[in-house]
Amino acid sequence: MNAWLIRAISVIFLGFLAISGVARAQDEVEIRTIDLGYGLHVIFGQGGNMMASVGADGIFVIDDQFAPLSERLLETISTLSDQPIRFVLNTHVHGDHVGGNENFAATGAIIVGHESIRERMSAEQVSELTNRTTPAYPDSALPIVTFQSGLSFYWNGLTAEIAHLPNAHTDGDSAVWIAEANVLHMGDIYFNGRFPFIDIDTGGSVDGIIAAANWALDLADENTVIVPGHGEIANRAALLAYRDMLVEARALVAVHVAAGRSYDDTQAANPLAPLNEEWGGGFITSDYLTAFIYLSIAGE
Ligand SMILES: [Zn+2]
Repeated sequence: MNAWLIRAISVIFLGFLAISGVARAQDEVEIRTIDLGYGLHVIFGQGGNMMASVGADGIFVIDDQFAPLSERLLETISTLSDQPIRFVLNTHVHGDHVGGNENFAATGAIIVGHESIRERMSAEQVSELTNRTTPAYPDSALPIVTFQSGLSFYWNGLTAEIAHLPNAHTDGDSAVWIAEANVLHMGDIYFNGRFPFIDIDTGGSVDGIIAAANWALDLADENTVIVPGHGEIANRAALLAYRDMLVEARALVAVHVAAGRSYDDTQAANPLAPLNEEWGGGFITSDYLTAFIYLSIAGE
């Protein structure tokens, strides 16, 4: 990435840490669950939406939010089933999805994730854009089963197919498709109803996130329950609107890149203004998404 581009873009990220990724006091967080049937439960707390499969084989959990919440999350999960947690799948490397790994592993769970998650968690992670350094995680927090393109769990009478979707929100994103239940957990590839975070420093890209949304649209039908990484449970129509928004946003920024405009001039033109009212209500504003798309297209 060009040094000048990093300097230009990092300016808008100064406020980013204040609004994202920082755990609130754990007792302020509301934890709630939604029963999807088939022994599947979505768990909302702070950070990435979790999902649990409970049944005779034990508990399989997708993501584990921030470490300070682990005790309360484990308590909530114990109300769903008295079986042990056998596996935790990490959908990607961000702290609001892997932060509880060490605590969950301490209960006997095996942590599973794309090999890039293990690689990144094993070493200090430096974000040029946010100027944030995440220290290496202890070995006990790392996925001990990794995969490259995907793997399947035959679990509690269901088949959970884990698929790696390259260079989307990060370079290590996985989605989980459970055909028998018609349920798709998309991790942070999908922010329901809002602009997504595309973590360019960690290998994310706008074209990858659009491709991942298209992959999901191909799988889903009108009855599919789609669990986003952030936001409420969605359906195919909502995901379609999100994909269309991303395609439009990419085109709106690409016009400026094709015209040879600088990053600053592109931001000044406020290219995503037409989308902001409907999609800009989350912690990713139109300025951020403009930056992610500009970097994706022009950052090489
Ligand atoms: Zn994330």
